[in-house]
Amino acid sequence: MTKTLRVGILGATGMVGQRFVELLENHPQFQITALAASDRSQGKTFAEACTWRLAGAMPESVKTLAVQAPEPTLDCDLVFSSLPGDIARRTEGDFAAAGYPVISNSSAFRMDHDVPLLIPEINPEHLALIDAQKKSSNGQHGFIVTNPNCSTIMLALALAPLHQKFGIESVIATTMQALSGAGYPGVASLAISDNVLPFIESEEEKIEQETLKILGKLNGETIDDAQMRVSAQCHRVNVSDGHLAAVRVKLKGPAKIDEVKQAFSSFSALPQELKLHSAPEQVIIVREEKDRPQPRLDRDAGNGMSITIGRLQPDNVLDYRFVVLSHNTIRGAAGAAILNAELMLAMGNLK
Ligand code: NAP
Repeated sequence: MTKTLRVGILGATGMVGQRFVELLENHPQFQITALAASDRSQGKTFAEACTWRLAGAMPESVKTLAVQAPEPTLDCDLVFSSLPGDIARRTEGDFAAAGYPVISNSSAFRMDHDVPLLIPEINPEHLALIDAQKKSSNGQHGFIVTNPNCSTIMLALALAPLHQKFGIESVIATTMQALSGAGYPGVASLAISDNVLPFIESEEEKIEQETLKILGKLNGETIDDAQMRVSAQCHRVNVSDGHLAAVRVKLKGPAKIDEVKQAFSSFSALPQELKLHSAPEQVIIVREEKDRPQPRLDRDAGNGMSITIGRLQPDNVLDYRFVVLSHNTIRGAAGAAILNAELMLAMGNLK
């Protein structure tokens, strides 16, 4: 067993921060030694500062840890960040400059040319950007690795096997995104009850841009975007957890529907080969029932780390259409960042 690394969580009291705490409890390789949040929470114990909003009880091991300012120096070997995007750029940059590996959920650095936008099943070779990052940032000893936006992750995981086997010309994705994706307290109950909101700030742009980088090719010290067109429309719906997207794809080469289904269900990659702790055995679960996937029934598949695809059919306008679902705060956020760290540990990027 690899030795345990001490981890800090920036934004530990938030929706994603609490998922980190939950998923890291009893993790074989990472132990929480530092928690940080806003000045509202600093100086309190985690039990005092955090209203626990997940099922089950707050883990005993974190209750008495003091919540600190999200500034170096924290007593840990690496930090997971779930800070709001507007403060993440400065704060995560400060931690990297101070020598910490920063494994971030926030959007602040995702599109920087030398920052890996990592999904371990798709682009583990993008970790080579860490060296470029250290070279180009004067005197910086740490580095930043990001995971994509919560909707982008499931879309990219669904597209990856099609991109590898048949090539993709264009993609149209229409999302229905859960309330927990907006953090806590998130959307006002009067705005979302009996309603669907057809706008989520910057979400469509993130999906359209991030997908191309994730599926892109490493070229020396940068990534060449995948050559395909991606169009996204995003909606907030009255569901607690679990993002859903209706997707249509036009492929570059011919593919029978059984070949598409087989490409999804047989998709397996380095995290499965390495048997990383958080890697699901089945990355993509294909459901045959005509009314699946559904957020309440399918979001916890593979401990929240599998994605579920259903409703696969030929499409009259593009080639195929399907519906994809994933747990937005697990595969779409904290679980994604933890899997990134497990891969980085296995590949020698974390010491
Ligand atoms: P959240 O519930 O609003 O939590 C925000 C966290 O950041 C809290 O711990 C909060 O501390 C802390 N914080 C806020 N302002 C701060 C400041 N000025 N200085 C220091 N700490 C501050 O948000 P969330 O949903 O967990 O999202 C966190 C990040 O993850 C965002 O960048 C979001 O875009 C990204 N993300 C979220 C999801 C999702 O499904 N929710 C998925 C992927 C990525 P206090 O409690 O002390 O205020």
